[in-house]
Amino acid sequence: MFNIILFGPPGSGKGTQSERLIAKYHLKHLSTGDLLRSEIAAQTVLGMEAKKIMDKGELVPDEVVIGMINSAVDNNPQAKGFLFDGFPRTKAQSEALDQLLSAKNTAIHVFLSLEVSEEELVKRLSNRGLTSGRSDDTNEEVIRARIAEYHKKTSIVADYYQQFDKVVKIKGEGTVEEIFNRLCFEIDKRLS
Ligand code: ADP
Repeated sequence: MFNIILFGPPGSGKGTQSERLIAKYHLKHLSTGDLLRSEIAAQTVLGMEAKKIMDKGELVPDEVVIGMINSAVDNNPQAKGFLFDGFPRTKAQSEALDQLLSAKNTAIHVFLSLEVSEEELVKRLSNRGLTSGRSDDTNEEVIRARIAEYHKKTSIVADYYQQFDKVVKIKGEGTVEEIFNRLCFEIDKRLS
């Protein structure tokens, strides 16, 4: 198996790049944001609770997202590897993920961190809000809250993987193609 974490603040391009990466490397894409939005669309109890939190730009409780990832990994026993997008976002989630993968005799191979300036992020997210139908993208205050949440809680996730020497920073500005090539270069190095 080959497992990747694609990391970066909201709006850093994780969704766009994930699509291309899973197609090229035949990985299973696991996005906690997408999983949560499916729960919302299906109007489950979990979805309704999560929506309130997501609309404030805060993080959904660890046990909720860990449970979702656990089932998603279990439901994909044939996967050649996983691309985690939007997960882990806290130290507890990172530890849970490591345990879950090691129980399957595998691990995270690389932690790719997309680096984008705050002004560019706000610009991209506001633009996305015009068409995406995502309620958390239409309000600048919520966008800034998500970026603040990222700096406050989520950036420590990079420190966690840094201790295992797995972190690679990738410049997340430029064309989609340029950024994709930077990501592939780092993945290919580790695959060969
Ligand atoms: P973005 O990266 O643009 O914030 P996501 O789709 O990854 O978008 O996440 C949207 C929202 O879903 C987050 O603001 C948060 O409320 C919730 N969420 C997603 N993943 C997690 C996670 N791993 N832990 C806690 N909350 C999460």
